[in-house]
Amino acid sequence: MATAILTPDTAANAGRGTFVNEEFLDFSLPENQRAMEAAIADVESRLGREYDMVIGGARLRTDDKIISKNPARPSQVVGIHQRAGVEHAAIAMEAAQKAFTTWSRVPVAERAAFLFKAADKIRERKFEFCAWLTLEVGKNWGEADADVGETIDFLEFYGREALRMDGVTTPIQFPGERNQFRYIPLGVGAVIPPWNFPFAIMAGMAVAAIVCGNTVILKPSIDASTIAARFFSLMEEIGLPDGVLNFCPGEGPDFGNAVVVHPQTRFIAFTGSKAVGLEIHEKAAKTQLGQIFIKRTILEMGGKDSIIVDADCDLDSAVAGVAASAFGFNGQKCSACSRVIVDASLYDTFCDKLVERVRKIEVGDPALNFAAGPVISEKSYEKVLSYLQIGRREGRLLAGGDAIETESGGYYIAPTIFADIAPTARLAQEEIFGPVLAVIKSNSFDEALDIANNTEYGLTGAIYSSSAEKLQRAREEFQVGNLYLNRKCTGAMVGAHPFGGFNMSGTDSKAGGPDYLLLFTQAKSIAEKLG
Ligand code: NAD
Repeated sequence: MATAILTPDTAANAGRGTFVNEEFLDFSLPENQRAMEAAIADVESRLGREYDMVIGGARLRTDDKIISKNPARPSQVVGIHQRAGVEHAAIAMEAAQKAFTTWSRVPVAERAAFLFKAADKIRERKFEFCAWLTLEVGKNWGEADADVGETIDFLEFYGREALRMDGVTTPIQFPGERNQFRYIPLGVGAVIPPWNFPFAIMAGMAVAAIVCGNTVILKPSIDASTIAARFFSLMEEIGLPDGVLNFCPGEGPDFGNAVVVHPQTRFIAFTGSKAVGLEIHEKAAKTQLGQIFIKRTILEMGGKDSIIVDADCDLDSAVAGVAASAFGFNGQKCSACSRVIVDASLYDTFCDKLVERVRKIEVGDPALNFAAGPVISEKSYEKVLSYLQIGRREGRLLAGGDAIETESGGYYIAPTIFADIAPTARLAQEEIFGPVLAVIKSNSFDEALDIANNTEYGLTGAIYSSSAEKLQRAREEFQVGNLYLNRKCTGAMVGAHPFGGFNMSGTDSKAGGPDYLLLFTQAKSIAEKLG
């Protein structure tokens, strides 16, 4: 497989250089602080407006609405959205099919140019997009910037990848023939993202599909429909033809399901929980009346990610890495560390140091850039609180353990650590998706590896050790899609860390990697007899 780097020809054609990750904003600089405060004030002045559903360029309204709220201040409405129903699935499919007939034939360079243009526009309006993320899903400034930066990276990376794939040839020319090999689009796809990376994952899956020549029915999460609406409007602004991307906010079980089971839905790109991913997998496998292809599913699902802290590691670095991985964005990352497996020889010291560090994490409104903010919704808040009760029964509470009440009514929960959790306890096995960390003791490196591999998931994992031999064993035996050695297990970078999990964490599709766009294409082989 060729690398993701542009060849000189394609780079020149696209007017773009080699891919590099977008730099993070430095919020210690007063000018960036001022810019972010101004962006938040500006976006706050635009909260509560109503957004249309847009299908094939037509703007639609429904009687029933989806109301997106700020989880830090639930009385604050961020956006009002239409609620696509089952009946809209057929309308969206018709528009997307119509657009497919022309979009699939647009030269790849032109399709890629839309991605590059979108990247440029988002870069220009970076603070504004950060502010939308802060207010709609409760990301602090740094987390919001990471989401926006990853969105730009996906646009830049997939644009280049599409150009690279457009240049492939057959490895061999058969004597007496002209042999061609092309990646062609699949058709109309459903893109169904989660709320937790509502910009990067939503836009990343959508543009991967689009740049390959497919057309898309985009159903954002009900908790993050506004950021998707802002992205959709940017794509309209840059002139993406009608019907290529159809913006259909709606509930998963009705509209989402209706699109999944539609006989003309060629593929489903989904990121979200295991339960929903498996349901989509099952429903997509059932052939519908009139369906003439096998639906493809690209499913990225949950995690129960472990960090192994080995006896001979740099303890301070392990403590810092575990705290960042477990409590960054309040543990609401699929890659978050939710179990740390610590060698018995340093267990007590590790716990003391971790508690000292975690107690210093300040919780408050992400708009004011507190390190930790609220969880996404009342439903999530109730779920995490129920796990705090389970944790009290299954382990020893070391830090946190309670909700934090505020006047704003935000869904705050203190960063929580439970020690002495058994490897098979619910706290060690079930995805909580909140600021809750289970500490598990191991008596040997072999045991630590066994524990790390004892869940149904296999998304991310990390190991802190100074032993080359143990790191090598982790490379071979730690069964996760994204393994990190002596660093935190969150913060995958497009290109450098193609992302996706094993087992019940999904189809290991490796977003941001050199194989990703293949999932949105089918290859056609053409042989012409010469003479
Ligand atoms: P979720 O599964 O509840 O929802 C994801 C999407 O599926 C939403 O758009 C939702 O409306 C839709 N949906 C729900 N039911 C549906 C149905 N029956 N048919 C079709 N669509 C349906 O997940 P969430 O709460 O939005 O996100 C959190 C989950 O996502 C966590 O489990 C997390 O680990 C996972 N996640 C995984 C990755 C990854 O790359 N593996 C990345 C981010 C998040």
